[in-house]
Amino acid sequence: KGPDPDLVAIAERMATVKHKILVLSGKGGVGKSTFSAQLSFALASMDFQVGLLDIDICGPSIPKMLGLEGQDIHQSNLGWSPVYVESNLGVMSIGFMLTNPDDAVIWRGPRKNGLIKQFLKDVYWGELDFLVVDAPPGTSDEHISIAQCLQVCGIDGAIIITTPQQVSLIDVRKEVSFCKKLGLPVLGVVENMSGLCQRIADLKFVKMTETGEERDMTQWAMEYLKEKAPELLGLVASTEVFDSSSGGALRMCQEMGVPFLGKVPLDPQLCKAAEEGRSCFEDQKCGISAPALKRIIDKL
Ligand code: ADP
Repeated sequence: KGPDPDLVAIAERMATVKHKILVLSGKGGVGKSTFSAQLSFALASMDFQVGLLDIDICGPSIPKMLGLEGQDIHQSNLGWSPVYVESNLGVMSIGFMLTNPDDAVIWRGPRKNGLIKQFLKDVYWGELDFLVVDAPPGTSDEHISIAQCLQVCGIDGAIIITTPQQVSLIDVRKEVSFCKKLGLPVLGVVENMSGLCQRIADLKFVKMTETGEERDMTQWAMEYLKEKAPELLGLVASTEVFDSSSGGALRMCQEMGVPFLGKVPLDPQLCKAAEEGRSCFEDQKCGISAPALKRIIDKL
């Protein structure tokens, strides 16, 4: 039996891609796509040639997070052309192929695997410094398929995103074991939504009335603070949201012998930037999450 023709085609296609990074998570909703999107923005702002491939087939959120909703992909004789945010940041996602963004893509394993292979084989990226691959959550057959396809052409490794809760960390352990089993290097683990951080100046203040209604007191509170304690307005209110008594992702990384890359706080401004398809690094308001993300990216 000769070599798998799909794998040969993928290796050929990936020959012009220097670095390949897979972004994984044990669960959905932990910020994997947000991280993939912001990592891609950051690398592109450093003048690297970057591709972002979204193979989270059942919940493609990358087009929205890159501000590319409603765009179409085109086919040329070289293959499918990515959609470009800028000349050095191209994006490919199943989301571009859905006629209605509300369509739930319910595909069974073999078809999903087929599509993932097709993405790796048929997208014409040209010369890339980095290909960031946003994978579906979990450790399924698709993941084995992706990892094997990318390993053929030399993948740098995987970044695993988690939140601080035990339930998410348990899944990360599975994810790390999965990588070890496949011989996929773990570049590191990111603890996302690690505490809630907000500038006092961005807080909303409410008073609960006896009938359970909320009365907006923001204007009053801001004026009061401005007059009585203006220095408070420059501070950040930091709240532990999840129980971190287990030591969170850092401790898990130490136990499992994989690098811990850092924490990113739950930052409403980062959520807003992601919703609006913008880079948090160019947003003054993301003064809390953007530096945290930057420190993580600099470690890679
Ligand atoms: P996943 O890809 O793991 O399913 P997403 O990246 O889609 O998760 O994130 C889920 C939601 O949480 C999105 O609305 C996203 O903007 C938001 N989000 C992710 N990380 C943060 C954070 N650190 N602070 C605030 N909101 C976040």
